[in-house]
Parts: sequence; structure tokens; C-alpha cells
Amino acid sequence: MIPYRNGALRVDLTRRTAEVETVPPEICEPFIGGRGFGIAYLFKEQPPHADPFEEENRLMFLAGPLAGTQAQALSRWMVCTKSPLTGGYARSVAGADFGAWLRFAGYEAVLVEGKAVTPVYLHLTADGCEIVDAGELWGKETPKSQDMLRQRHGDKTRVACIGPAGERMVRYAAIVSGRRTASRCGVGAVMGSKNLKAIAISAERNVRLFDPDAFKKLAIEQSRLIHASKQFEHHKEWGTTMTQNVTNTLGIFPVRNFRYGQQKDGTKLYGEEYRKLRTGEFGCYNCSARCGKAHTVTTGLYAGAWSEGPEYESLWVFSAPIDSTSIEATIRADQLCDDLGIDTISTGGCIGFAYELYERGIIDRNDTDGLELIYGDHQTMVKLVQKIAAREGFGDILAEGVVRAARTIGRGAEAYAIHTKGMELPAYEPRGAKSQGFSYATSNIGGSHCYGYAGQEIFGATDPRPINRFAEAENADIVIHNQDSTGMGEVGIVCAFAKGWGWFPGLYGKLLAAATGVEYSADMGYLRKMGERIVNLERAFNVREGFGRKDDKLPARMLTEPLHTFGAPGEGEIVREMEKFLDRYYELRGWNEDGIPTVKKLTELGLTEIAKGISQR
Ligand code: SF4
Repeated sequence: MIPYRNGALRVDLTRRTAEVETVPPEICEPFIGGRGFGIAYLFKEQPPHADPFEEENRLMFLAGPLAGTQAQALSRWMVCTKSPLTGGYARSVAGADFGAWLRFAGYEAVLVEGKAVTPVYLHLTADGCEIVDAGELWGKETPKSQDMLRQRHGDKTRVACIGPAGERMVRYAAIVSGRRTASRCGVGAVMGSKNLKAIAISAERNVRLFDPDAFKKLAIEQSRLIHASKQFEHHKEWGTTMTQNVTNTLGIFPVRNFRYGQQKDGTKLYGEEYRKLRTGEFGCYNCSARCGKAHTVTTGLYAGAWSEGPEYESLWVFSAPIDSTSIEATIRADQLCDDLGIDTISTGGCIGFAYELYERGIIDRNDTDGLELIYGDHQTMVKLVQKIAAREGFGDILAEGVVRAARTIGRGAEAYAIHTKGMELPAYEPRGAKSQGFSYATSNIGGSHCYGYAGQEIFGATDPRPINRFAEAENADIVIHNQDSTGMGEVGIVCAFAKGWGWFPGLYGKLLAAATGVEYSADMGYLRKMGERIVNLERAFNVREGFGRKDDKLPARMLTEPLHTFGAPGEGEIVREMEKFLDRYYELRGWNEDGIPTVKKLTELGLTEIAKGISQR
């Protein structure tokens, strides 16, 4: 093993074995780490058409090569697998300390395969891994599970675990560490399907670096640039709790299941209002932003509710989709999601879908266990969060996600299922932020803002150029730029927020080179190609699973129903030319008209073996 790179821990839950291995050169060199390792391992080892809930599905926990170092905002971690929600490639990113602890124990990847007969957890140390009975933990909520494991293994232990929702394989269950979650794509449901309750890591703080002196100088420079950044200061003060002030003003704050782009009394949800309930701050390992803002409810229906959040997506999804302005209800729903281990965006998306069905008379109290789903009623929303996590009654239907729920309900419900590739959409309206919408459509993980965030449309970013947010095919290059840039940043698992703080990408490659000794990772041209390589390999994975142009689409509502914004820009907008956008996007990507990477493109990216497989299709 290269002394300054960590190894991979391979765990087979069926055989109850765990072995440390060196990451092979054909993965380590061209993919550097993090998300690169995730898709490279997944493509290589996952049998095509594996059932996400069967033992052949791989579940990978990844830390980047910069995790646990003195450089800031680089210790996030991610999970890669095949999604039970979309049936395609999944990657989900999280914060807190767990990524740093993976590296402290000596691992950049934990590769889990097989399925345990009874519940287990993994206890990782620098000496290896023990597979331990988790009978006492099963059924426990995520705070309790983490407490029990820290009591058992000591304060130098960090835990990532599932809650009751993951155990019941809610298709969008999350994996939780501290109060931070790898929540999208149903990664927690895959963990539950394997009877894997938790991973606990006990380790001393220590990472090895190729050139510690050079790394230290770069980290000091990074800190200097960060603290000179206005964006950093704003994020430190507010976290994401002011984003709704921007999106509601722009008319891209989706209301009532994406019917409207502005909430009429949305100012009641603005950041200044959340600030009044703020009671604490939390940060990921070695990040001075501490952007997690905790809120506590002291009076009223939800008195006693507390959450390390909600962040923008979660405060949106538990208010606007049901046309509520109760901040207290968003705090309670967010708390429940973290405790029970469930993705906020998909949970709230499913509930918003149900409220619209109820209003239209497609479902009634006979379908909803007697609940009335009336816009503005947040108490019913909170009840539904609990019913989904418990798979109780109507909650069991919604626990399958909007696509499967619509099929079960029938009666035309499909028309109101707002998703791409089966994953519920996040908090940016595609008709008013079209590059963001097209990124949802072409994302390899389905409807995620984190696969290629269109900061140009939302915050007026000018890299690589300013854009008109209502333009369509003209901005195909921007969608590609945002997706590839995200891939590039996630080999070192840079926090997406920290990319705007003046040090990225200039110092990023240098930090990677100083940490790993791989000199060419300091070359920005090489790193940009790396982002493109990752997106193409993820695409090739999905093509192997049967995905293609037919799956790169937005909900019909975006193409046919004019957006209403109540005076904000974008009134009457629809997505006019989806197909023309795809033609241009595929052309620029070097993919054929079905959205399949060409042999020429894959070969150019060094994916020669993959190209052979694709050419035989
Ligand atoms: S900016 Fe926030 S989410 Fe990102 S690393 Fe820092 S504390 Fe974590």
C-alpha cells in the first residue's frame, strides 16, 4: 500500500469476512478518490441488473484523500450504490466527522457486499473490522443508536447508522452521522436490506500525507483566502437559511407540488424569522463556517422540537408543498426525519404529491387512514412523516416514492408525480431556473440539485459566464460545466458550499498533489477531465442498466403548464424545447442521439474497456 494513501476495507456480510486491500492502480490513479473510487468500483464489481435490495448490490462508503487533514471543508463523505428509488447509479454526500474518522482508521473506502442473516454493525479500528451483533440496536432511532455505540466503544468513536425507516427499507431512507445525513437515492434502504444497522469507527486523529510541509503551507493559504471571502462570512452567519429569500423573490420557490413559483406570504419563512428560533451552531470536521444552524421551538403545538436545521431544502419541503408557513412545523418534521433516518426532500415531495391528489379528489379519507390533507394543515404533514417512516397505512404507499405510489393509487395520479428518474425534485423550479431543471433531467442520480448546481441562475455566479435563466439549449454547456465541476470537486469531496470561498479551484489540485503525491492532480486541465470521466462512467453504468434518452426528462407539468409567480419574473414560463436541449447537450458531451457515450468519447477519457462494452450494445 502507498504509505500516504489509505486502503479499502472489503466486507462480505454473507460470509462474515472483512479484509483490507490496496486500492488497485487502475482505480487509484485515474480516479484519485472519493466519487471517482465509488463509480469505478461500482462499475467494475456490480453485476448488471442487480436488485438494489439483494446481496449482489454493493454499498460503498467513501472518504476523500483530503479528509481528516488541516485543510478546511474537505472531510465530507459519501455513499455509492445502486438506488432502490431510481434503479440507477446512486451517490449521496454527507457531513459531520465520519469522513475524517474513516481516514483516521486507515480507510478511504469501505466496500460492503452480501447480506447479514441477522442485524449487525461494523466496528472499524486501525487494526481491521469486527462484525458485531446489532440486535440491541435494531429498532432504535439514530440518536439512540449513536449514543449506545459511543458508550460501548468510547468517545473516540464516530458512527453512521440507519433508523427505523432504513430498517423498513423506505425507498428514500437515509444514513445518519451526528445530525448529518447521506439521504438521497435511498442509500439507507440499501443498508437496511443488508441488515447493516451501523458502522462505528474508533480511531486516533492521524492522517498520513505525501508532503506534510507543503500541505501545511497550502492549508494556511486556504484559510487566509477563506477568511477574506464575503461568501464565507455570509454562509457562516446564515448557513442556507436565507436561500428562500432569494428563490421566493426570483419566483423559483416551488409551491403546491410545483404549481407556483412564489409563496404569497413566503416572507414568514425568511431567514430572519428562522434566526429568531436559532439556538446553536454545528460544523463538519475542521470547517470554521459551522453552517449547521440549530433551531428550537419553545411554545405552541411543537414546543420542545429541536433540529440541527432545517436547511434550505428541508425548510422548503415541509412548508411550500403544503402551502404552510409554520416554521415550527418544519423544525419538527426535520427533527423527525433525522431521528427516523429518512430523506427530507423525498419525504416532503411525497407528502406534497398526496396533498394535490387529495385536493383533486383522486384520493380521499378512505385512502389516507382518515386524514384530511388540506393545504395549510401542517399537523397532518407531520403525522405523515411518521407514518412514512413506520410504513404505516397510507404511509406505506408513500414510502415507495411518488412513481410507485402513483402506480398503486392509479386514477391518473401519475400526472402529479414530480420527479426525474424516480427521484423527487428539490427546491428550485425548473421553469424559472432552466439550467437547474435540465441538470435534474440529465443527472445520473435523478432529481438532485447537488449533481450540478446552477449557481449562475440562483446567485448570479459568473463562472464560466453569466447566463439568462430562461434560456434553454443555449445553456447546455453550462449544465455540463456544473455537472463536471461537481464531479471534479467530489474526488476530494470538497463541500459544495466551500467552492465559493475564493480558494477553489486554484488550491484544490495543489492540496491533492501534496496529500497524495500524484503530481498531475495539480493540473486543472487534468482535474476537469476527471470530472467529465466520472460523469461519463456514471452514465455508462446507467446505460448498462437500460437508461437512455427516454429517462432524461422533466415532469410533464414543466412542459405543459405555465408557471405562476404572482408578479415575480417567469410568469407563464414553460420548458419549451426539451428535445432540442437534449440534442445540444448530447452533442457537446460526445454522446449519441440516445444519450449513450460514444466509443470515441470514452476512449478519449481513458475508459477504453468501458468503450468496448458500450460498442457491443
Ligand atoms: S460549509 Fe457547512 S456543510 Fe460545508 S463542510 Fe462546512 S460546516 Fe460542513
